[in-house]
Amino acid sequence: MVAAAKTVFVAARLPKNNGVSAWVAMLPPRKGNPPLQGHATADIVILGGGFAGLSAARRISELDPSLTVAVLEAGVIGEAAAGRNSGFIIDLPHDVSSDDYGGDTMTKSREAIEINRTAIRLASSIAAEQGWGRDIFDPCGRYSVAISSAGDRHLIDYARALINLGEKHQLLSQREIAEVTGSRAYTSALFTPGTVMVQPAAYIRGVADCLHDPVHVYERTPAVRLESSGNGWLVKTPEGSISTGRIILANNGHAQSFGFFKSELLHIFTFASMTREFDPGHLAGQRQWAATPALPMGTTVRRIPGEKGDRVLIRSRYTYHPTIEAGESTLRRAGAVHDRKFRARFPGTGDIPMEYRWAGAMAVTWNSVPAFGEIEKGIFAACGCNGVGATKATANGIAAAELMLGHTSRLTEIFARFDAPRRLPPQPFTTIGAKANLAIKEWRAGGE
Ligand SMILES: Cc1cc2nc3c(=O)[nH]c(=O)nc-3n(C[C@H](O)[C@H](O)[C@H](O)COP(=O)(O)OP(=O)(O)OC[C@H]3O[C@@H](n4cnc5c(N)ncnc54)[C@H](O)[C@@H]3O)c2cc1C
Repeated sequence: MVAAAKTVFVAARLPKNNGVSAWVAMLPPRKGNPPLQGHATADIVILGGGFAGLSAARRISELDPSLTVAVLEAGVIGEAAAGRNSGFIIDLPHDVSSDDYGGDTMTKSREAIEINRTAIRLASSIAAEQGWGRDIFDPCGRYSVAISSAGDRHLIDYARALINLGEKHQLLSQREIAEVTGSRAYTSALFTPGTVMVQPAAYIRGVADCLHDPVHVYERTPAVRLESSGNGWLVKTPEGSISTGRIILANNGHAQSFGFFKSELLHIFTFASMTREFDPGHLAGQRQWAATPALPMGTTVRRIPGEKGDRVLIRSRYTYHPTIEAGESTLRRAGAVHDRKFRARFPGTGDIPMEYRWAGAMAVTWNSVPAFGEIEKGIFAACGCNGVGATKATANGIAAAELMLGHTSRLTEIFARFDAPRRLPPQPFTTIGAKANLAIKEWRAGGE
């Protein structure tokens, strides 16, 4: 008898994080869970301990608490993108269109809202169970802020679309948003109440730490090789291995490092800086607020109060890195942009320096659909966060868990209708196209 050929996927690269995220630095050091050592078995192995992976683990434990699950995180929980983002868990789609009030666009917007609110429900249930305060999980809503007439127009169009969707919102004048932010730079704003703001590193650590037996989280445990074995898979890590029936790939862009979605994921990085603590009297306005830009590709700003003073977060710039690594010089250049954006918004506080700067990776598909579904017998993907992973990747993880366990829901229905990710053009055209596209969009966003 001839033995069946093995199917093998080997990780060509592992994640690297540039810069120290303020969110992690502000928390006590994490002892974390020990790496996987020796051989183990689990019903399901999840690769990646970000929004997608931990949400999948949580959903599996809700649907079938008897299943043994091993979450393998390459680094330390909270140190990759899920713990280094700006902390907006956004309920509304970014791209609702007011041009097409009926038809397809409205259906898509409504479905996007359903997806986002499913993710928020999961996050809220964890927050309630853990008794988190507003310092970790704050359902305070978000401001979209304009800094130009193009931004003002966009907010008015967006507000029109929200009326049609039946979504609560409030337009604010320049004076009204200045009272919130202390900045006269913003020309108008739109408040929507459904966004939850989190301290992302505390949130994602908390989600990991509330998983319990028979779900185990292994940190500093990158999966380096997936090998078919009998009816299942053998997952190899630097110090051990684990036999399993099924795998969820929740390692976002690094799915590609194993050869999956080879020509379908664009690796886009974005960057953030956070000031050192300052006397709250140095900046007018409220001590706690969070604002995303009116125009895509603009600048996110957040003010965070603390016992020793307040801090401001600036998130801006997008760059494309096919090697899934941004590098220190890109981070330095983004930092200079952040300093300019900070001064433009808060001219009276120009002497407050940035204390932390960091970069983080996102995986985007050309047609903005997730890289999702059973991609190999027993291997399910919950990748391709498309930028707003606090909601999208969370939903991706929930949907992957449900699909794997044969559970049907509104989420699995909606996910089943997604197209496959569109193939990108061959290199070097993808790189040229991605860089040109980002440059044009950033130029259009101007000062936003
Ligand atoms: C500065 C910044 C600001 C952002 N702001 C926001 C925001 O406010 N709201 C929002 O919704 N989104 C935001 N994002 C995007 C958001 O962080 C991502 O969309 C989200 O983290 C994606 O979640 P994920 O679980 O799919 O992937 P990730 O969070 O990237 O998690 C994947 C995990 O897989 C691990 N991994 C990779 N390879 C392996 C392997 N071989 N074995 C084991 N583990 C592996 C990684 O270490 C990582 O922990 C921001 C991103 C950045 C960088």
